[in-house]
Amino acid sequence: MAIYDPKSRKAEEFINDGEILETLAYAEANKDNAELIDQILEKARPRKTADGTVCAGLTHKEASVLLACELPDKIQKIYEIAEEIKLAFYGNRIVIFAPLYLSNYCVNGCVYCPYHLKNKCIPRKKLTQEEVRKEVIALQDMGHKRLAIEAGEDPVNNPIEYILECINTIYSVHHKNGDIRRVNVNIAATTVENYRKLKDAGIGTYILFQETYHKKSYLELHPTGPKHDYDYHTEAMDRAMDGGIDDVGLGVLFGLELYKYEFAGLIMHAEHLEAVHGVGPHTISVPRLKRADDINPDDFDNGIDDDTFAKITACIRLAVPYTGIIISTRETEKVRGRLLNCGVSQVSGGSRTSVGGYAEEERPHDTEQFDVSDQRSLDEVVRWLMENGHIPSFCTACYREGRTGDRFMSLCKSGQILNCCHPNALMTLTEYLVDYASPETKEVGFRMIEEELGRIPKEKVRDIAKQNIEDIRNSNRRDFRF
Ligand code: SAM
Repeated sequence: MAIYDPKSRKAEEFINDGEILETLAYAEANKDNAELIDQILEKARPRKTADGTVCAGLTHKEASVLLACELPDKIQKIYEIAEEIKLAFYGNRIVIFAPLYLSNYCVNGCVYCPYHLKNKCIPRKKLTQEEVRKEVIALQDMGHKRLAIEAGEDPVNNPIEYILECINTIYSVHHKNGDIRRVNVNIAATTVENYRKLKDAGIGTYILFQETYHKKSYLELHPTGPKHDYDYHTEAMDRAMDGGIDDVGLGVLFGLELYKYEFAGLIMHAEHLEAVHGVGPHTISVPRLKRADDINPDDFDNGIDDDTFAKITACIRLAVPYTGIIISTRETEKVRGRLLNCGVSQVSGGSRTSVGGYAEEERPHDTEQFDVSDQRSLDEVVRWLMENGHIPSFCTACYREGRTGDRFMSLCKSGQILNCCHPNALMTLTEYLVDYASPETKEVGFRMIEEELGRIPKEKVRDIAKQNIEDIRNSNRRDFRF
């Protein structure tokens, strides 16, 4: 039997079934232990030190107790602290991105995904470089600066060379004032050599969802294809880091297995990365299983309701305070609005999940990966965020300034975000407003920028930001950043 060891490089040792089961039993036994829960909450709270604000985070055991807790006043506290942490490290900024589907060819048999090999009804499509250009122009015309590229796993149709060519094309398109400044990549687990190639191509975060940490279920849910190999999949982030990628994004597809098991596995994965590589995950995504071409979520037993979903998100926020949390358009406006107050720091907007979907006038459904619940335009999402007190940020400065991995974490911890990320968000929001926004969004946005400029602590930084914002409004100069 495998023994739990967060420092091990073996999947079954750092995501250890025995340790997860023990954790769940401990959490269940202590779910009403108010004294212990208060201690855990106290530990999770951000505190000010001479070097800035710091947060201890929580172990998978501590965080699992909070997730199991059913005491209403303590749950309320979890939400309050989640918001406190979000404000301390990310301010009221929300980073915006869009997925770009390159190809739905796939050789895997994932039973929850419509791209599975046996689905003969879904039309298979792979973008040519000319089509990639068209998609990127459509995305730039919406105002996007940051993409997450998505593809099925198919060594013949979507080899790494194809993915690299697409990344190159994406970065090369500059339409009007448009620019894609960060390409995150969500493709199947691969080799160290291929991760190095992705790093050299200038990617931002490498994202790979674990889908489920429960090995037995994993093997059943991925019955055929290379993704069937649980260990290879689970150890992918270590290979990515060996290949030089220090921003990696974790995620679980909620609905496949019992959520408490997944949650413990997710936090253990984060602890493992910290223990081995000295840096935790850059982001965690929280997708829920959705209806899609030949997929019916009701066929899966472990769906979670909105309250549980919000609680999971808030507990993630407490456990890993320096990790961004991403919510996609799989969720409705209502759920997204609620989760924004539970610690989410990134949202997608105006998304289309079909291959070639952005260049089409009407939203196409035939090649979609899942039904999009929030179908609002990017302009509507941006306005909605601002009306609810969040600053939509199109900033990509950190990674372009080399602030990735532990250097990003230090910025987060140093309390300098108000002098760095905040003005960057305001400057990139100005670009969006000037180049792409509707008149109503412009009005709300410029009012917000005026107010938010006053919150930049350092006078010199504030003056530079003001000057840059003036320049963006009155000229074609773009891409200012701290
Ligand atoms: N093919 C790549 C891989 O194997 O990891 C990743 C790309 S896939 C396009 C992105 C993610 O979509 C998957 O990791 C999965 O979690 C999610 N997904 C698949 N089917 C889904 C569904 N029916 N509803 C919601 N999300 C789904």
